[in-house]
This record gives sequence, C-alpha cells and structure tokens, in this order.
Amino acid sequence: MVRAKKVAKALVLFGLVALSALQPQGGLWAADDYPRTAKYIFLFIGDGMGIPQRAAASAYTGKPLTVDTFPAQGVTTTAAADRFITDSAAAGTAMASGTKSRIGYLGVDPNLRPVKTLAEMAKEQGKKVGIVSSVSIDHATPAAFYAHVPSRSMYHEIGMALVKSDFDFFGGGGFKDPDGKKSKAPQGNVLEAARSAGYTLVDNKRDFMALKNSPGLKVIAINPWLQDSAAMPYEIDRRSEDISLAEFTEKAVELLDNPQGFFLMVEGGKIDWACHANDGVAAIRDTLALDEAVRVAFHFYEKHPQETLIVVTGDHECGGLTLGFAGTKYETEFNMLKHQKVSFQKFSDEVLKQFRQECGADCDFEKIKPVITANFGLKFTGDPQSDPLVLKPYQEAMLREAFERSMAAERIKADDPETYLLYGDYDPLTVTLTHVLNNNAGLGWTSFQHTGAPVTTSAVGVGAELFNGYYDNTDLAKKTMSVMGLTPQVVYMAEAA
Ligand SMILES: [Zn+2]
Repeated sequence: MVRAKKVAKALVLFGLVALSALQPQGGLWAADDYPRTAKYIFLFIGDGMGIPQRAAASAYTGKPLTVDTFPAQGVTTTAAADRFITDSAAAGTAMASGTKSRIGYLGVDPNLRPVKTLAEMAKEQGKKVGIVSSVSIDHATPAAFYAHVPSRSMYHEIGMALVKSDFDFFGGGGFKDPDGKKSKAPQGNVLEAARSAGYTLVDNKRDFMALKNSPGLKVIAINPWLQDSAAMPYEIDRRSEDISLAEFTEKAVELLDNPQGFFLMVEGGKIDWACHANDGVAAIRDTLALDEAVRVAFHFYEKHPQETLIVVTGDHECGGLTLGFAGTKYETEFNMLKHQKVSFQKFSDEVLKQFRQECGADCDFEKIKPVITANFGLKFTGDPQSDPLVLKPYQEAMLREAFERSMAAERIKADDPETYLLYGDYDPLTVTLTHVLNNNAGLGWTSFQHTGAPVTTSAVGVGAELFNGYYDNTDLAKKTMSVMGLTPQVVYMAEAA
C-alpha cells in the first residue's frame, strides 16, 4: 500500500521516476556479518570531486594519483531524495548515515528524523573521532558527521552541535556564525562554548605543530588565514605559514592514535568551490592536496595493514568538467595550466583589486594585458597555431568585453540567462580567463553548479573489496558500518531530551 502510494507519487514527476530507476539497489554490497573489522577508519571526501576532477589532476602531474593505485575502485551514484543533482548536505548525510535525505538537510532523514552518523557510532565504540575540512568546519560536509539540523545554513546551531559532539579533533577552516548573528536563537559564542567544554583552540602553525597526543585532549585547530567564507586558502594560494590539508591529517592521526582506534573524516572542500567558478587549475591543485592527505593515511595503513580501512570518494561532480573541448578537438596541452599562478579568488580579490586602485579612472585593456600574462601565462602576440598560450582573436575579444564589465564593477546575477551562461555569478574577467586557459588546454565546463554524474570511490585495507562495484552513496555508509563491526543500517537517534 505504502509502496503503491510511493510509486503513484513518483509517476507525477518524471524526474523522480528517472531518479529511482537510476539508483542501484542498496544493501547488496554491504555485509551483515562481515568477518573482519578495522580499528582505524579514514574517510576522505573530495567535495565536487568526480571522475573528471581526478583525471584532470592526474593528467596535470602526468602520473596516477595515490587513490588511483588503490585495489578497490567503485562507482557511486549521488542523487538526493528530492533532486537528481544533489548538494553537499544531502550527499554528506547519505555518506555519514546511510539515509537518503533532502537538499539542505543535515543528519536527518527526509522526515527530519535525526540519524546516527558513522562518526557518532565510532565514538560510541570508544574510538576517537576527527573531522578535518579545508572549508569552514561548520560547512555541510563536515557538519553531516556531527549535526542534525533541517538546514545547512544554520551555522550557529551547527557550531554548537560541534562543541556538543565531544569529538576529539576538528581541523581546517573556521566558523561562519560563531556569535549567532544569523541565528533565531543565539546560544552565545561557539569558541567560548568550546573552551568551556574543554577544547584546546589553536589558530597558528607553531602552536599547531607543537600539539602532542595526551589523555583527554580535545582540539579545534583553525588555519591562520581564512581566505573566503571562513575557509582555508586554495592550495595554489597557500603560504608557508598556512597549514596544509596533509599536515592537518598528519596531526589528526598523531593525536587520535590510541588502542581503541579512530575514525577520521577529511574533506577537500574547495575542489567544489573552484569547480563552481570553473577554475580548473585551482580545482586540480586542491585535488592534489587531498591526494597528499590520502598519502599520509596510506603511510599509516602501511604500518597497520590488518587494522586500517581507507575510503576516498566524492560527494558529487561539480562544474560538468570534462577532458576535451570543441575548440581544441582531439588536442590537449595540460602543461600550459602550470602558467596559472593564483586562484580565481585571489586574482579577483587581490590582483584585480590592486590593478583597479592603481589605474584609477583610466583602466584600459592594454594595461591589464601584462597582468594577465603574469598570472595566467596567456599571450596577446604570437601564433595561436603553434602556441596554445597565444589567444585567438575571438578569445581576446571575449576578454576585452569581460574586462569592460569587470571594470564597471558589474557582478552578473542570474536574471539575464545569456550573461549567466558566460560568467555565472563570478567576476566577468576572472571567469573568462579561466575558461580560455582551460579550453586551450583541452578542459571543458558545462555548468557553474553540481552535476548528476556518478563519482569514483576508491578503497584500500580491511574490507576494501566491499567498495568495488556500482552502488549508491547511502551504501557507502553501510559498507563502512560493516567494516566497523556494525549492522549496516540506518540508525535513528533517540529523541532529544
Ligand atoms: Zn558545491
């Protein structure tokens, strides 16, 4: 009866029919009585990291990523309960708890019932728990492991849930609403609450590096430079005084190591943001930074191969990135991407801002040309046939037009569909520069948002073979539960007292 109702409902919307038809049947690959358990569990999530992001990063370096060498490789579907193309909240909830949920929901099922996460299950088993992200630590993906709220934008409540989680290590970006300025019911300051709850807070590299594993230690470590939206800088912009994702991972392993084992989730969150902006190089460099963090875990696995599971996945693809572009046909020239020196974010926040200040009233296109060449390698003279860095006449015209709009401080919003296709919501010149550089290298983009393409999941260690095959993101949680010695199922939490 319930089922018939469900089907009838689904028939109303073609999208939902397509969605359920495309989802592999869950449970098939999780094992109820999996005979082995892993003491140490690593889950790496590349936000926006689909197959093309990984392939582009590998093409950029000319060698396989560490994750490409893992013995188990699977394909994972990502749809949300209410939309084919998911967001990080629904996807994070699926991977953390095994339930399909709705767009924007965190740690709750589609009916808002709180569901237990892998991290909370690990904590109950007596393991230590760590959560690391290159974006703010209260962002959707990390929050999916410790918060249970109807909206991912409840940053203050999420911050307070972080403190209440009692998890042992948080690292990466900062908090988006520590004081509850955007909250309907502010509960004080998140950092102060964390201190009173016994957390040690560090926000510089020296103190961070000096942290030592000691009984009862609980840490919140924030990178000294928060570049945008309380996030760590893009890897391409990282300075020596910043803490890399690999360093956060290494310190987490050091501090979490104990006889009961640990669960550590590490997110490469800015792969997604770079892909929203169609900045291939920033996305590639952040993908490589995540892969370096994976390598830290792999070294740990090599010391404890009978007790460790490492799973690496993406929550969804972003940008509709592909390897190949109409304008370059069968040609690719990934080496030219190495000429890009800054992320799109740093270029528009710093380089372009300074340029505008210096040229004042007479900012003309001729003056920006050397700035473009210095930051992206693109050239205005030469033969485009023999040098892919030389702009074709139509591309120079695109840049000129975009430059005029940038200098007019035009921030294109979605009202005009044609300009949205050109620039999304980004600075017109910056996004045109990354488009042109990416296209000439042979990278194409089709969207400024996520796409519904499945992602790759890679695994090594105890239970890795469960992660072979073609399965849904909810199964990823269930497979992990199997290897934690738990029944692979959605576990509802007791109603809050
Ligand atoms: Zn995104």
